[in-house]
Amino acid sequence: MKHVVKVIGSGVGGLATAIRLAKLGLKVTVYEKNSFVGGKVHSRTFDGYRFDMGPSVFTEPHLIEELVALGNSPILFEHSPLPESCRYFYEDGTRLIVKSGTEGTLKCLIHDLGENPKRSREYLKKLSANYEALSPVFIQASLHRLKHVWNRNLLRAVWNIPRYGLFTTMNGLSKRFFLNPKTVQFMNRFATYNGSDPYQTPGLLSIIGHLELNIGSFFPKGGMANITQQLQKTALSLGVQFEFNSEIEAIETENGQVRGIRVHGNLEPADIVVSNADVHHTYEQLMPTVAKPNKVLGQELSSSAVVFYWGVKRIFPELGVHNVFFAEDYKAEFEAIFKTKTLVSDPTIYLHVSSKADPNDAPVGCENWFVMVNAPVASGQNWIALVQDLRKHVIVKISRILKVSLEELIQTEYVNDPIKWQQVFNGKGGSIYGNNSNSTMAAFNRHPNFAPNVKGLYFAGVTVHPGGGIPLALNGAKIVERLIKEDHFREFL
Ligand SMILES: Cc1cc2nc3c(=O)[nH]c(=O)nc-3n(C[C@H](O)[C@H](O)[C@H](O)COP(=O)(O)OP(=O)(O)OC[C@H]3O[C@@H](n4cnc5c(N)ncnc54)[C@H](O)[C@@H]3O)c2cc1C
Repeated sequence: MKHVVKVIGSGVGGLATAIRLAKLGLKVTVYEKNSFVGGKVHSRTFDGYRFDMGPSVFTEPHLIEELVALGNSPILFEHSPLPESCRYFYEDGTRLIVKSGTEGTLKCLIHDLGENPKRSREYLKKLSANYEALSPVFIQASLHRLKHVWNRNLLRAVWNIPRYGLFTTMNGLSKRFFLNPKTVQFMNRFATYNGSDPYQTPGLLSIIGHLELNIGSFFPKGGMANITQQLQKTALSLGVQFEFNSEIEAIETENGQVRGIRVHGNLEPADIVVSNADVHHTYEQLMPTVAKPNKVLGQELSSSAVVFYWGVKRIFPELGVHNVFFAEDYKAEFEAIFKTKTLVSDPTIYLHVSSKADPNDAPVGCENWFVMVNAPVASGQNWIALVQDLRKHVIVKISRILKVSLEELIQTEYVNDPIKWQQVFNGKGGSIYGNNSNSTMAAFNRHPNFAPNVKGLYFAGVTVHPGGGIPLALNGAKIVERLIKEDHFREFL
């Protein structure tokens, strides 16, 4: 019994944890409520158009390479660097193409946006230095175990505190470096990568931009869904078992210790359970009698999203793989998401066209458009009416900027909204990243990777430490592996 592990959920966090624990020789089963693997990283095909349904920006591919290398059969995870990180479209007609890497970003900042070369360089260097200083302490270790952080990395991180911009907002930090409001808007956008508001989130969080601005993003062969497919193959090669259409009903505990999970009405015994599901769902639905960490769970949630998946019967040379059409009034957009909990009529639109990188993703002469607008979490709004209105605004805005009649070009359509994210993945209110980071301490107040009140229960996924995005979920899985070794298998340390 000492070696039975049950993982709840097959998102990237669950798959990565399953691989790491199976590699230690433990008997691992992954239970997934849906019929497909990968959680939000999965794809669907409609009328010949293939869409990645969730994430599209892929950084730090070495974290995936590291996992597939643990498998028992050789798996080649193919990916290539994208030459551009993003294309930006502003309401006044300004268009930017940001090439990948530090020099590409600098070229855009200095030549296209007219920024001071020295300050621009300093900004990008600051992101990189802060990322290097903070990553070993806040991303690669548990903040909640002294021995994980009590080392020289902590001293280095603490020594650098005055440089982080902890006591200003992301918007405040951007304004210290850049004069052009368009540059500030561009830099502020990275707050949305963990579902936060740049006018509230601390300047420290600007480090989110480091990977994309200084290194660039990548395209996995076969699209984003191929990441989780390759991880599943790796897990299978290590003997991990998968049970799909298997929604866990409860985590059974006794005397503060995990006993197993309840699925299809049966108790499946286990001495270690890893929840990759939303931490709110885990406490509220799966173990309602266990004392909840109310302070952590009571924090404000991250944003959600409305995504239109459109098959478009035309090729647009002015678009790249990643594109952003900015709102004129960025601040009003975040006030709507986090304060009035609604949508604005002029939203910022993120448009991902994977068929630019892999033409097989759309029929000849066509493009697969993933059109995303950040949205508030579901809290009683009329989403049918909101999405209908939003659709009109998005079509008008893109049609105006690209000078086309978009409605006539849409051949196929599917929509996801906060209610669907909630129903399909059990994420509270359809929140994408659990809690937001709209306060100085929020990033430090995420739930630990273990349950303080239940021995044998661990958490891996974007709703717990270290936070949102694929790379962070993968780092979370590494932390869980270390915690489990420390708690149960010291021989592996
Ligand atoms: C529209 C959108 C765009 C995004 N863009 C990006 C991006 O560009 N880059 C990026 O890095 N990240 C992005 N993200 C965030 C991204 O989804 C996460 O980084 C990552 O995929 C989350 O992984 P996870 O393992 O934490 O959770 P999930 O993918 O949510 O996986 C959790 C799994 O648990 C399952 N589950 C839940 N409850 C139960 C239960 N009771 N029993 C059994 N199974 C259960 C769910 O079905 C799900 O499969 C985006 C998210 C969305 C929605």
